[in-house]
Amino acid sequence: MNCFFCGGSMEEGVTSHVVTLEKCIIIVKNVPCLKCGQCGETFFEDSVAERLEEIVSTLQTVVTEIAVVEFTRSAA
Ligand SMILES: [Zn+2]
Repeated sequence: MNCFFCGGSMEEGVTSHVVTLEKCIIIVKNVPCLKCGQCGETFFEDSVAERLEEIVSTLQTVVTEIAVVEFTRSAA
């Protein structure tokens, strides 16, 4: 797979996903991703992106300021 933006080669890695919401900030660490070696653009697989949405939607109901969590594949 090549980078959608620059055509560089993508490598597997992990990244931190930061979501800034109206009332809080959620940081999800160690999210598996593909990262472009050329421009640094990151991509998430569909399953990872869906899981991130779940994590964020769950946390935003309980977090008031800032939350830092580890990415997990399954629901806690
Ligand atoms: Zn790129």
